[in-house]
Amino acid sequence: MSTYDRSNRRGYGTPQRWVDRTGGPTLAELDPTRWHEKAACRDLPSALWLDDYAQTSTSRGAAICQVCPVQRTCLASALVFGDEYGIYGGTTSTERASLARRLRRGDTLGAVLDETLASRRSSRPVAGAA
Ligand code: SF4
Repeated sequence: MSTYDRSNRRGYGTPQRWVDRTGGPTLAELDPTRWHEKAACRDLPSALWLDDYAQTSTSRGAAICQVCPVQRTCLASALVFGDEYGIYGGTTSTERASLARRLRRGDTLGAVLDETLASRRSSRPVAGAA
């Protein structure tokens, strides 16, 4: 199969018990059936989001994440359920390990999500800029 429906990429697993989900999506909102169908990666080749092919946050897969309508939920899900490999929400596994350390130190999920995604938006090239 040449494409991989990332909407099936993970189940509704066990949340990391140490994540303070304040400010982030509820567990009900993280239910894949509520957001996967809106994913920009749906029906695209999974290789774009696998670590072997997408080592950096500037990869093509990660660029698609930046315009995905469910990016925040996707990143929240990866952090809450501990997805270790691949690009999720535009972050690499290495970047998520860093975010997980923040969560383990007590930062809330909402704060981690908002700061991470805001930093991505501010570093995105402005259309039409030289
Ligand atoms: S943020 Fe990226 S990995 Fe997550 S659903 Fe959207 S396109 Fe897929």
